[in-house]
Amino acid sequence: MKHGQLHKDTIVIHEGYDDTQHHGSLAVPLYQTSTYSFDNAVTGEKRFSGEEAGNIYSRLGNPTVQVLEERMTMLEKGEGALAFGSGMAAVSSILVHLTKAGDHILCSRGIYGCTFGLLNIMKNKYGITHDLIRMDTEEEIERAVKPETVCIYVETPINPTMELVDLHAVVNVAKRHGLRVVVDNTFTSPYLQNPLSIGADFVLHSATKYINGHGDVIAGLLVGNNKDEIEKIRMTVQKDYGAIMSPFDAWLLIRGLKTLPVRMERHTANAERLITYLKDKEIVENIYYPFDKDNPQFSIAERQMSAGGGLISFTVKGGKEGAQLFMDSLSLIKIAVSLGDAETLIQHPATMTHSSVPENDRLQMGITDSLLRL
Ligand SMILES: *Cc1c(COP(=O)(O)O)cnc(C)c1O
Repeated sequence: MKHGQLHKDTIVIHEGYDDTQHHGSLAVPLYQTSTYSFDNAVTGEKRFSGEEAGNIYSRLGNPTVQVLEERMTMLEKGEGALAFGSGMAAVSSILVHLTKAGDHILCSRGIYGCTFGLLNIMKNKYGITHDLIRMDTEEEIERAVKPETVCIYVETPINPTMELVDLHAVVNVAKRHGLRVVVDNTFTSPYLQNPLSIGADFVLHSATKYINGHGDVIAGLLVGNNKDEIEKIRMTVQKDYGAIMSPFDAWLLIRGLKTLPVRMERHTANAERLITYLKDKEIVENIYYPFDKDNPQFSIAERQMSAGGGLISFTVKGGKEGAQLFMDSLSLIKIAVSLGDAETLIQHPATMTHSSVPENDRLQMGITDSLLRL
């Protein structure tokens, strides 16, 4: 289907699947196969040359995985998508695709810990450098662009501070300098924010989180605004690195994705109620949430997100000990990293997800000892 023909609530259930082609099977079948036979030798030759469309081998494509890719393409308002074995496989594949030795990447001042690790491997082994900067205004971004900059890589909201990057500002600067824009959209899901519509070139997800929603799969997804470029990545970086999603994981994700709209609405409603509750509590100092009226970045949130989502961070009194005591006093809320599942999870970034970030850098990002992410 073309963009705009189906509502997101309908896309997650119907896009990319025609049951009349599958014996009327209501559920998308699981094609748990490594390879596909050809009717005859010439068919095999034509599939390999690209003259004829069709399946060859599951590292190059699988019908179950394809349904998920088509649904994600439409949900993110893109032109093509690729499914990966983890969020990090999606991150590494797009960065390898976009850069070569000597290039420079401009990043938001908070990025996922392993993305930070990957950028350091790229710097130390291949001389691909990066800078992490605040991206509140076009001037701030413009000042950091270098002659060798090739792309801007951002997360928004930033984990775990919930600080926002102004996506319109990023896209405007990128257009002026011919830079590609990649957005890690894991924290909002395609239901609340669509960076491709604002002008980004690529959106990626740790599908482990909201897209799956059930805490039982590790997976990644990449969506692009150019079908040919996505197919090129499929047949180069993804094929040769082998960074693919298994058909069974795709099947679980198709199942989880069906409830994404309902889940995101409930996550948001729950977060709003919790904020009201926490605001009254003596022990709570500050609350960070994109759609909180007291948030100085509220106007950025309104311009690029349709709702605030399920993640809240806040500080409590008593520093690290206060934060740890708070966590240990909870009963149903589990102490765990990750997000987007049915269970409510809390973690202490300073000693958990961001414990490998040097203290000075960590404090500069706003990750204090009393910060908790719920
Ligand atoms: C979890 C996460 C990743 C990494 O995804 P995996 O599926 O764990 O490989 C990347 N970015 C963000 C924002 C994440 O939360």
